Order: sequence, then structure tokens, then C-alpha cells
Amino acid sequence: MAFGICKSLLLVAVSLTLTSWMYSAGANPVTSENEKHLRDDPFQAGHPLTEEEFQSGVTENKGATLENGLQPWKHQENGTGLSGCNNPHDTGKKNANKNADVRWPGAQIPYVISTAFLAEERRAIASAMAIYHGKTCIRFVPRSSQRDYLIIIKSSGCWAQKGRVGGAQQMSLGNGCVYQSVILHEFMHAVGFDHEQNRPDQARYITVNFTNILPQHHWLFVSKPRDAVNTIGNYDIKSIMHYGAYASDSVTPSLPTIVAKNGQKVGSGDGFTWMDIYKLNRLYGCPFG
Ligand SMILES: [Zn+2]
Repeated sequence: MAFGICKSLLLVAVSLTLTSWMYSAGANPVTSENEKHLRDDPFQAGHPLTEEEFQSGVTENKGATLENGLQPWKHQENGTGLSGCNNPHDTGKKNANKNADVRWPGAQIPYVISTAFLAEERRAIASAMAIYHGKTCIRFVPRSSQRDYLIIIKSSGCWAQKGRVGGAQQMSLGNGCVYQSVILHEFMHAVGFDHEQNRPDQARYITVNFTNILPQHHWLFVSKPRDAVNTIGNYDIKSIMHYGAYASDSVTPSLPTIVAKNGQKVGSGDGFTWMDIYKLNRLYGCPFG
């Protein structure tokens, strides 16, 4: 599918093999196409995460190895195309999710989690959820009969859709993705945020070296209109939602793709910045102290 169409879908997933589908915000009922997709998917729902898993404080899947310096959510070169473009279930509808529209009612995100995750991976996922619970009023709750919910799967790559899409929506934490920073990042997409560098005020803070970025990835680095992204708070080059300075899949990986205008290091460390937490709380109207 044409690249421009993908862009219009406001899909924030950055991995290749997105197998989910697009609906406009909230208003659409779960369609037969959606249900068919779920039946076709080999997904099996595992047990909801337990309190013990929430309290485990696991930050990574110790059995996995993280490639040196690589942001796992930028795994983009080993699949079939960017962000859902090859998805046969893609309706082609323009996703109307914008700002407040993307929020989950009552800051409650119903979820189901695949049986595919190992015990240590479940603990890492639960621990990331626990960080949201501790720092925001957002709550991940086991799905009972809610119409809109998140399906956490172990597919290829690390990806999520922006905010509440409507109906069942998938989020993938594939191999190499079960690290606290990646899980927090993907959940922040699902909660309702784009990549930080997509903010309309991008150009005041960073320079994007488009000549060092493969053309098919340019859309991941462009600033978007104000009504297409959440612009709560200030631009934050340290945000967990900001791409780093280097990308292993750039034209010349030893050269930066992004340079901060203030000379500081671009990209996140291992966790939320204060500004990330502020933005999450603001979007959901949480008391924030
Ligand atoms: Zn992302």
C-alpha cells in the first residue's frame, strides 16, 4: 500500500509486521471484519497478571539479549513493510484519533495478555504496568466484557497503536522488546502518545538529518500538525517517546539522524522523564503533585 496512506492512518507503530487493523475512534462498533481477524489469529489469552507479578520489580527478560545500542522499538528491517501497510485487514479508513479522542474512558485500559509470554516476561510487563499505576491514575485492568481493549501479543517487533482505537487492538512485545523502557514506550503509545519528534514544535529543538534516513522511514521523523499529536507540556528530547540520535538502519549508522539544537544528548534513558509523567497525568486529568 502506498506509503502516504500509511502515514494518514496515524499509526504510531514502528515495527514491520503490524497485523492489526484500523478503525476510526471509538464510535465504530466491533465489526465482523474485526471479529474475523480475531478468529484467524492464533492468540490465546493467558491469565491476567497477578499482584505478585506487579510487585516483582522485573525490568527485563533476563533470557534475552539486547543488541548493543539498538532501540528495540526501531526494529524495522526484518519484516514485510512498515506499519500495517501490508495488513490485509486494513480498512483504509482514516483514523480520527486526535488528542482527547484517544483517551481510554476513566483512565482504565482493559487488557488481555497472550499465553506466549514466559514467566519472566510477564513479570517485566506487569512491573511496567505497575510504574504507570504508581505514577499516574492510569490503570491496566483485566478485560471482562469491555468493548475496547488491548491485546498484548508476542509478535514480530515492538509496536502499538496510538490510544484507544475502538474494539480489540493489538500491541506487540516481540523478542528483544521485553525491557522496561520498551514496554513503557509501547504502553505510552497505547495510552495515547505519538513519538516526541512528531510534535509540531520539533524544529525548535532538533535537526533531523533526512539525508541519513532511508526514504521509507522519513515519515517517522516528520513533525505533524497540532491537531494530530498530543502537544501537552514541553518538547522533551529525553522523553521515552523520543527517538535516539543514531539508528542502526540509517544510511550511515555512525552518523546521527537527530541532533539536538541545545547540544544535549537526544533520546531517553531507561525510564520516564518527569515531563513524560506530567504529560500522562495531564492527558488523563490525574491529580498530579
Ligand atoms: Zn514507538
